[in-house]
Amino acid sequence: MAEKFEEAEARLFGDIYICRKCNARNRTNSPEEASCRKCGYSGLRPKNSELAG
Ligand SMILES: [Zn+2]
Repeated sequence: MAEKFEEAEARLFGDIYICRKCNARNRTNSPEEASCRKCGYSGLRPKNSELAG
């Protein structure tokens, strides 16, 4: 599944960002410029900060 592959990549590279709107994972090196590939929302947060949620 592509989903699992993404999670594995997140562990490897750590450049996964979560959409604040729909919680989709987005892989990017520049979250400031990127927007969610699913809904287009530009509010992305680092996956590493997920603990607070
Ligand atoms: Zn989204």
